[in-house]
Amino acid sequence: MSAERNELLLELPAVPEICERPGVSTLIELHGRPVVVHAVRQVLESAKNRILSNEPPPAREEIQALIGDEVVAVAVAGRLKPGLRRVINATGVILHANLGRAPLAPEAVAAVASAGGGYASLEVDVVSGGKAPRERHVVGLVRDLLECEAATVVNNGAAGVLLALQALAGGRDVLVSSGEMVELGGDFRVVDTTVSIGCRLVPVGSPQRTRLSDYESAIGPETGAILKVQRSSYDVPGFSEAVAVGELAPLARKKGVSLIHDLGSGLLSDDLNEQMLEGEMTPKNSLRSGSSVVCFSGDKLLGGPQTGVVAGEEAVVRLLEEHPLMRALRCDKLALAALEATLRLYRDERVEAVPIGQMLRVTSAELEARADAILSHLSRRKVKASMVKCVDSVGGGTAPYSDLRGIAIEVPHSRPGRMTSRLRTGDPAVLAVMRDACVHLHLRTVGEYEGDALAAAVEKAARG
Ligand SMILES: *Cc1c(COP(=O)(O)O)cnc(C)c1O
Repeated sequence: MSAERNELLLELPAVPEICERPGVSTLIELHGRPVVVHAVRQVLESAKNRILSNEPPPAREEIQALIGDEVVAVAVAGRLKPGLRRVINATGVILHANLGRAPLAPEAVAAVASAGGGYASLEVDVVSGGKAPRERHVVGLVRDLLECEAATVVNNGAAGVLLALQALAGGRDVLVSSGEMVELGGDFRVVDTTVSIGCRLVPVGSPQRTRLSDYESAIGPETGAILKVQRSSYDVPGFSEAVAVGELAPLARKKGVSLIHDLGSGLLSDDLNEQMLEGEMTPKNSLRSGSSVVCFSGDKLLGGPQTGVVAGEEAVVRLLEEHPLMRALRCDKLALAALEATLRLYRDERVEAVPIGQMLRVTSAELEARADAILSHLSRRKVKASMVKCVDSVGGGTAPYSDLRGIAIEVPHSRPGRMTSRLRTGDPAVLAVMRDACVHLHLRTVGEYEGDALAAAVEKAARG
């Protein structure tokens, strides 16, 4: 380290010295010493990093500015806010994985508040007073909606696949098409999962083409299951031929092995499928085509909380329910409350209340009306902005080909990176998209009631 840097580091004041400054003492009186001391440490740490990383080292005035009262006040304010906070999603990505995928319907939010704010009939049958499995709150609904024999529910989609593989093919071979042995969303790899639980994953066919005869010749006495991974969630370039569930089912039945369908998304409304998603495979279709069990997430196209549903043949689901892993993968009462409330909306034909469906169905005219309201706010405040067409997406590893035409507010800015950063750290936080020298706010994923808050946030960030 250069002598110059070393000197700058040594010149940084100590925490107590900063705390004695009048501006900082006021903060201590207002918010208490611990939170302010932590904020001061954080400010000093980032000043230190700046000294160590900048080429050439920062000037003394710049360092003074970095540890000024105002910076400490901002750091304190940041510490007073919760870390996990509400975000306005202006990215146009409906199932944004980093923003928690599906927002819940008001009915599901109410169910979470009610079950979480007190005790709940989680494992008590209120009629008999006896103990009852927690999954029962959603199992009946899943069975009705999918017209299937049995179902269970676990923590997330990956857990559902893991449980199915372990319970149905633990210690044995699982056949999977080479073209389907890919990473899912970067964090859930079928290969790693099965290896970690002691199944042997046997690739079938070539990455370009897998035929039914490839499965037929790979099946042997060690085969426990065939795993079909839904490929609609990602694109494998050059992969041209896969075997459908309907073709695999008779083979699996004849050989006495289970056919596990890892579907990913659990689309429950048929009209949405026909209108928007061009035949996205649904759990119902999977089971009708003959899969033994189908696994899907509660928080993708289903529009509920993070959960994983496994549905299908009674005898097969029973094996999952009785497996010791089930205890480690079970859902908590909040997730079950939200999932039950969401599924009830489907059963009662009130799917229009599910936000994911609203975002998929919203018309250009509606989006334009939302844009007009925001633009008129911005023009009154003399912020330059305009309405532009944009492309939205379903996201969440779902339906990659259905790009959705959307509407965005475009704000030209001399430093768009700075503006998006101000939006992210504002209150409410807004996630926007940077495009060329502009900031784009996609309106499809912005709730109708969030329009005013978004307009105010954009106004504030654009001025900076
Ligand atoms: C998303 C996905 C999963 C994992 O589901 P999580 O709910 O994220 O755990 C598994 N398989 C497929 C095909 C998926 O698309």
